[in-house]
Amino acid sequence: MSALEDLPPLRETLAAHDLLAKKSFGQHFLLDLNITRKIARLAEVGEGQRVIEVGPGPGGLTRALLETGARVTAVEMDPRFEPLLHELSAAADGRLTLVIADALKVDEAQLAGGEPAAIVSNLPYNVGTPLLIKWLTGPFTPVSMTLMFQKEVAERIVAEPGSEAYGRLAVISQACARARLVMDAPARAFTPPPKVDSAVVRLVPREDRPAPARLAALQAVTQAAFGQRRKMLRASLKALGGGELCEAAGLASDIRAETVGIEGFLALADALIARRAG
Ligand code: SAM
Repeated sequence: MSALEDLPPLRETLAAHDLLAKKSFGQHFLLDLNITRKIARLAEVGEGQRVIEVGPGPGGLTRALLETGARVTAVEMDPRFEPLLHELSAAADGRLTLVIADALKVDEAQLAGGEPAAIVSNLPYNVGTPLLIKWLTGPFTPVSMTLMFQKEVAERIVAEPGSEAYGRLAVISQACARARLVMDAPARAFTPPPKVDSAVVRLVPREDRPAPARLAALQAVTQAAFGQRRKMLRASLKALGGGELCEAAGLASDIRAETVGIEGFLALADALIARRAG
């Protein structure tokens, strides 16, 4: 692992390769290895474990992940980082594999070579939520996800019923995974600094996460309920069965979406499936 420790500081590496951040790719880099090492620790990855990293950019988080002894497959959309990341791979005895592609379009099972894999990423803001939904609901289930989001998005993922931030993203995320906000990262931690602060969320998929049909029903009820979040459920869910659907789910029909917990929404999803079947 000494070759990794002998690498020059990230700022020097960026300068040597004449690389500047591009806004269109959502590039805000973590150049402080103390921060990236903390994220790698929070990810709980280690020796020999398979990790998929999205958006390695200059490779600060990648270095920290490789230092743990993990085997990293990194998916980067900006080909300018290719030479720099190949140097990093050489320093890590080839434990880093680079794929130049759009992470929204890759097949994670194939990237992981059929093995279980954790996903770790300082996500590009513009595609953070669609990527999370893909990993929560798609065919590939990661061992865990340790992901940097805009703070406001992180708060919406872990939000509890009754809070302003509670909505569709909280229900879908928490129905599929246990989610915790594990680290705050102020805007000044990034180069260049974004306009807003960030936070890291750690998600571990639930054994009993909803099967595809239940998930589709959950998407339908949460879309309707939070689409009109100030209305009572019997009104916001009118097109799906309104008061009757609430009754079948064992919920009062005069409550609002923001007070219904994950179990309540799953009961509504099951009631919708039963109603459509009957
Ligand atoms: N991991 C680096 C760090 O922490 O310094 C860079 C993080 S930066 C916020 C996001 C990275 O994701 C950039 O390198 C960007 O080029 C890359 N990226 C943006 N959109 C992407 C996509 N759809 N698929 C793969 N990588 C993407």
